[in-house]
Amino acid sequence: MRTIVIGAGMVGLTCAWTLHRDGHDVTLVDPAPASGATHAAGGMLTPVGEAYHGEDELTAFLLASSRRYPEFVEDLAAHLSPGTPTGYVRSGTLICGVDAADRGHLADLHALDLRLGLHSEQLTTREARRLEPLLGPRLTCAYLAPDDHQVDPRVLAAALLAALRGRVEIVEDAARAVHPGGSPRVDLASGAALDADVVVVANGLGAATLDGDLGIDLAGVLRPVHGEVVRMLAPPSLAPLLTRTIRGLVEGRPVYLIPRGDGRVLLGATSREDQVAAVNTGGLHDLLVDAVRLMPAIREFSVEEVLARARPGTPDNAPILGATAPGVILATGLFRHGILASPLVAAVVAALVRQQGDPAGAPSEADSELLDLARCADPRRFASTPGKDTP
Ligand SMILES: Cc1cc2nc3c(=O)[nH]c(=O)nc-3n(C[C@H](O)[C@H](O)[C@H](O)COP(=O)(O)OP(=O)(O)OC[C@H]3O[C@@H](n4cnc5c(N)ncnc54)[C@H](O)[C@@H]3O)c2cc1C
Repeated sequence: MRTIVIGAGMVGLTCAWTLHRDGHDVTLVDPAPASGATHAAGGMLTPVGEAYHGEDELTAFLLASSRRYPEFVEDLAAHLSPGTPTGYVRSGTLICGVDAADRGHLADLHALDLRLGLHSEQLTTREARRLEPLLGPRLTCAYLAPDDHQVDPRVLAAALLAALRGRVEIVEDAARAVHPGGSPRVDLASGAALDADVVVVANGLGAATLDGDLGIDLAGVLRPVHGEVVRMLAPPSLAPLLTRTIRGLVEGRPVYLIPRGDGRVLLGATSREDQVAAVNTGGLHDLLVDAVRLMPAIREFSVEEVLARARPGTPDNAPILGATAPGVILATGLFRHGILASPLVAAVVAALVRQQGDPAGAPSEADSELLDLARCADPRRFASTPGKDTP
């Protein structure tokens, strides 16, 4: 089928790649590929460390996506020049608390993980420091999540773009409007128009500003949740001493350190809803102070880059993933989990495209399983949410 994917962040790139691998004709539309939330994201693939009460279906979705990662990156690597990195690293994650309240909170998370059958092991703080010797002396608790891994989103996005170039059409223009129908149309900012059999709307927060008709009004649903990150470089003497992702809770504030294996370390991330796109001084200050409490040695690291981007947030933290109008599929609202969730989101989108190609046919057992996992992301749960034009 002829498919148009709007947006080349991690979600659009993985959708374009998966649809191409399924044999569809793909046109990918983005004026600045991989420049949105994907550019700042940590790339933690940590469904165990990020489980929340009341979000069991979302946790199952994220876990299923994390299990797809090895096969997804292996398939991608097979289509790249030998040695091209995908950024995927199986490093495991340590989860640490700093004060008594953090210990209580993380004990609760551990109990939830065990109830959900997730792999989480309690360690003594001494055992944690034996695994990661740069951890500070004042921890109150530690847990190991051996199946929570990481990917470098910039490296993976570059690999996906490299694989897509020459295999799909990449249009460096912005989509302005989407018109559903038997042959849906996308109007571009340049004045040109594209038509196809299916349009996949995967442009993160930009989905809320598209004209035309997406079947639901996203303006009342999507909201920007900004976050700062600091990209750092550890000195050669310290770099080998930090090998796993460290997720810390410092007086209730989350902070994480992600070592990339070559001395680069990403420190993240703040979370604010003040609508300001620039880096926030207070947020940056808190991030650095909390990171030093978790790991005093980062005072010796150098800073390479500080940046902020907005996560595409939704009211219930779950994605917006499904067909909403004839020929139109939404894949947005990935909030804190877009890098982790992308392989499964793309597989669900591929199943939805198959369904559009054969509306009368029953989905295969595999597609039924995918669509079942995506129930928590059904866009129709927001069908009656007031939008920007609703009084
Ligand atoms: C600080 C921070 C840390 C994060 N850490 C993690 C993490 O550790 N793990 C994790 O899983 N997730 C993390 N996330 C969340 C993750 O980055 C997002 O969920 C994910 O990037 C969403 O991907 P996306 O492709 O939907 O959107 P984006 O990455 O924002 O990409 C949207 C793309 O659409 C394009 N676009 C916009 N409008 C248009 C238009 N009209 N036409 C065409 N193209 C358009 C943009 O140019 C952009 O390239 C983090 C996010 C932030 C901000």
